[in-house]
This record gives sequence, C-alpha cells and structure tokens, in this order.
Amino acid sequence: MADFSDYTSPVAAHTEDADKFLITAIRSGDQRAWHQLIERYQGRLLAFARARLRAPGEAEDALQETFLGFVSSLKHFDESRSLETYLFAILRYKIQEALTKKQRHADQAVGFDADEDGPPTAEASVEETPSQVLAAREGTKRQADVIATILRRLIEELRDRGKLEDLQVVELLFYVGLRNKEAADRLGRDEKSIAGVKFRALGRLREFLEELEAEDRGLLDESISSDATIAKVWRQRRLSCLKRSTIGSYLLGVLEEPWSSYTAFHLDEVKCLMCKANAEDLSAESEQLAGGELSDRMFQSSVGFLSRWSGTDSSS
Ligand SMILES: [Zn+2]
Repeated sequence: MADFSDYTSPVAAHTEDADKFLITAIRSGDQRAWHQLIERYQGRLLAFARARLRAPGEAEDALQETFLGFVSSLKHFDESRSLETYLFAILRYKIQEALTKKQRHADQAVGFDADEDGPPTAEASVEETPSQVLAAREGTKRQADVIATILRRLIEELRDRGKLEDLQVVELLFYVGLRNKEAADRLGRDEKSIAGVKFRALGRLREFLEELEAEDRGLLDESISSDATIAKVWRQRRLSCLKRSTIGSYLLGVLEEPWSSYTAFHLDEVKCLMCKANAEDLSAESEQLAGGELSDRMFQSSVGFLSRWSGTDSSS
C-alpha cells in the first residue's frame, strides 16, 4: 500500500501548533504575536474577500472587520478548531453583511442578487438559504459535530487507502451536490461506477453511524438525510480542504500523485473558494507582492481592541 504519511493531514481540521502558540501569546496581550497572526493570514483572507467584493476598499474593510471581530471574540475561540477555518467563517459573515448592506442601498433592488455578478462557483450552490440558516440555529452544534465526525471518518478512510478518485466522487455528490450523471460527466467515468462508489460510501456512513452512541445517533435521524446539511457541515468544517503547505507544493509542481490530481480537482472542479484564496495568496507571496504596509494598517486598527480585551497597556 502506498505511504501517504507525508500528507496524513491535508485537511485543515485542527489548529496547528504554531497557531496555538500565537493565540496563547495574544491572549496574554502580546502585540507582536497579534501582528504575526495578521501577517500570516491577511493574504489568503484578502484574496478570498476580493473574489466576492469588487468595489475598491470593500475587501480591505471586510478584512479589517474580520480581525476586529476575531480579537473581540478571542475568548470564545475553541482551539480544537482550525484557526484558519475560524477566520474564514468570520470573513464570510462580514462579506455577507457588506453585500446585504449594499443590496439595501441599491435603488429598485427588487429581484437583484448582490452576489450574482460573481463567478458561478460550486460553492455558491451550497450557500445557505434563510430557512436553512434558521434550521441550523435550531439544530445543535453537537449535531454538526457528529455529522462532521462520520464524514471525516469516511474521507480519512478513502485517503488512507489511496482512493482519491473515489473521494472525488463523494466530494462531488455530497459536497457540491451533483447528480450521479453530472459527476460521471465531470470525471469522465461511467454512471454505473459512480453509483457503485456512492452505494459503498453510504454503506460506510451507515456503519459509522451504527458505531455511535445511541444518544448521538438520535441527533441525526432527520438531518443526516438532508443533503443541504451535509454540504454545509462539509464546507464549514472544510472537511476535504487542503493544507496550505500542500497547495504550496502543488503550485511549485513538486506535489506527488495522486495528491497533485486531487489538489487540481479541489481547486478547479470543486472551486473551493478558501483553498483558491490560499493558492492566490501563495502565488502573490512568491512574487513578493504581499505587503507589510497592509499588515501595519490592519494591526494599527485592531491592536487597541486587543489591549482592551486583555486589559494590558497598549502605549508601550
Ligand atoms: Zn478547500
């Protein structure tokens, strides 16, 4: 069996050690750590924001509000989660807010979708509707945790066995929401083999479900059957997203197969906006375009909140 140990975690599921270290320092009011966190994440976040907000300055505003939002909610940050995913979640919210505001200001906005001039992406098809958002609020975080757990088990199993082609099928069906025929066309496979992969994947999910405590199983009765919920958990937890270092290797052309093909798939077929933002940021970085000026501005506008929060003096 192939050894994928170098890439055992292409999934950005947990906060990396370096991030944990930074967060501990930031929580104690360390301004340099805060500056470092901004420098580390601003590029990919800005690239993500620019894909959604086109007017000059809008993306930077959303970025600034994201860092402010993070600093003021620092005590709620759960370190068992990925910091990057958390920052992207705040940014998504800020972008949504900006788009809503813009829509409100638009004259005669009947039927106008603030987002419709954006490029059509696979992500857009799993964006929540208001009723889904409400349903999610009614549901518990634990429910999402349980769904994420069994999906992650399936994804890891396919990865560990080197079945990345099957993972692509599962990703297109469960995350992007394609039908068997559509997935077959996209991947150049026949519909029957797609149906086979789906059948086996559902069987495994059912088995994982059986292994859960009865209490957790009870949480899933209805929601697990909802494709929208699965897609949402998949996106929010970024279950199949790639590590930044994996994307970096891919861009340099040194990522080995089958990961190279899988990465191309995740970026170009799934069109994952968060991973694309990382890729764009990495390309910009290699062209030395990433600016210290931007991070200084982000730092200046948010550091006061850090001090206020941690109760230390910012005048030093
Ligand atoms: Zn991704």
